[in-house]
Amino acid sequence: MRIRGHHLLCIINFKGRGYSEEFIENMSLIKRKLEEKEKFLLVIGGDDICSKCPYYKENCQREFKRGETEEKDRKILEFLGLKEKKEYFYKNVEGIIFEKMKRKDFENFCKNCSWYYLCSKISPFL
Ligand code: SF4
Repeated sequence: MRIRGHHLLCIINFKGRGYSEEFIENMSLIKRKLEEKEKFLLVIGGDDICSKCPYYKENCQREFKRGETEEKDRKILEFLGLKEKKEYFYKNVEGIIFEKMKRKDFENFCKNCSWYYLCSKISPFL
């Protein structure tokens, strides 16, 4: 399974909302598999969540500027000290996220996302 950098935060905040029924079903399945200890490959760029997103056509079509989503993936990986194209167990990565990511970091990474209004209400980051 391939997961892109910034989706690590989306997975934590995911509570059953998304872009379409197919997207929600897929994201729910991915979150469940990750929590059941399936390994994933960390990537920058389109992943298994994007593959069922109505906005994915070769790259993310919700960007204001070409490449900004990849840039966000890259910055989050750097912040967490994780490596692209490396395999991880989600629970280990989740531990790193909760250790390093504070509320202000989450706000900084996610404030320009269209889901921020929702995630900012339910996010577990303190
Ligand atoms: S295509 Fe864009 S909006 Fe859709 S899941 Fe991927 S990053 Fe998110």
